[in-house]
Amino acid sequence: MGRRMELNVLVLPGDGIGPEVTREAVRVLEHVAARWGHALRLREGLLGGIAIRKTGGPFPDQTRELAMASDATLLGAVGLPEFDDLPPSKRPEKGLLGLRKALDVYANLRPVYCFESLIESSPLKNDIVRGTDILIVRELTGGLYFGQPRGIHGPEGSETAVNSMVYARSEIERVCHMAFDLARKRKRKVTSVDKANVLENSQLWRRVVAELAEGYPDVELEHMLVDNCAMQLLLRPTEFDVVVTENLFGDILSDEGSVLAGSIGMLPSASVGNRLPNGAWRGLFEPVHGSAPDIAGQGKANPLAAIGSAAAMLNYSFGLTEEAAAIESAVSQVLDSGRVTADLKPTGPPASTAEVGQAVCDAIA
Ligand code: NAD
Repeated sequence: MGRRMELNVLVLPGDGIGPEVTREAVRVLEHVAARWGHALRLREGLLGGIAIRKTGGPFPDQTRELAMASDATLLGAVGLPEFDDLPPSKRPEKGLLGLRKALDVYANLRPVYCFESLIESSPLKNDIVRGTDILIVRELTGGLYFGQPRGIHGPEGSETAVNSMVYARSEIERVCHMAFDLARKRKRKVTSVDKANVLENSQLWRRVVAELAEGYPDVELEHMLVDNCAMQLLLRPTEFDVVVTENLFGDILSDEGSVLAGSIGMLPSASVGNRLPNGAWRGLFEPVHGSAPDIAGQGKANPLAAIGSAAAMLNYSFGLTEEAAAIESAVSQVLDSGRVTADLKPTGPPASTAEVGQAVCDAIA
């Protein structure tokens, strides 16, 4: 057994199915902490719609302070239909963007992995998805979601809407360095995705990535236009290794990746930024999916993306690779057993969110 650690974790359950899936991720974290002798110090905060209801804003100061004082943050999902008509600056999602910016987690790592036992869950042919193992590295704190100027201007009936895609060279460099470093631990291939045939922003992106690649002669670099990438991901997913791209393109492509993994309820994510003095990455760990109001409160949500996010937290923020691997192996066993939620189309009756969480704990030796 390795060294015993203190794990200071902030939990932000959020909205919709967020609390249901984070409850199971916490159950697994508590199980792992007890099994390996780590001290898990959990604190809980408000983010998103629940924070608007209780404090008037989606990202309360107290949540910001808790996040800055924690080693890692585990998030469920944010967003509620009752806030859909509010302007972007007042919506629950603004809280998530604010949290990412405050933590300066500029790289969002989204593994897209096709488990053999889920191969029938994908609408794509088995021989296309079998063996898919992609890591999408999405730039998270720049681009269209943050760029200024932005807004809707002008009198009603003749308005103009503006969003700006802004990237500084340094922002491109740091996320692409991370992609190249991660590729070195995998199959040593980076696909950089852009729209350089139309956007100046992408032309700079492509130029910077090509320059950086000279420092990684052992990693193969290919450039791909985002529209072509959207197609190639479904035609030949097994030929990708690490995909690096800007914020909006990464958001869209990683949701497309859910088709390869069988369900969006299977996709975890890790958002990381600068390393802390102890070498760990301060990180934000959250499923790729949203708050799924259509199934909230019914025990139907698949908690495996949240549980996979907890495993990523142990791996990236605390360097606990053995514990993370134990969770991933337990998830694989649970999938093989067929005791899965309805989205994975089990042959028998679907398991509930809590049953899947407990099954993962039971499968951890
Ligand atoms: P969504 O991901 O919430 O749901 C899309 C579909 O996938 C729905 O049919 C849903 O039932 C299903 N689904 C999602 N997660 C699932 C899970 N764990 N298990 C089983 N099925 C699952 O996306 P949406 O419907 O476009 O958005 C709903 C709300 O979530 C909106 O308010 C949106 O803004 C917000 N959202 C939040 C995040 C986030 O917090 N990171 C991400 C995306 C969307």
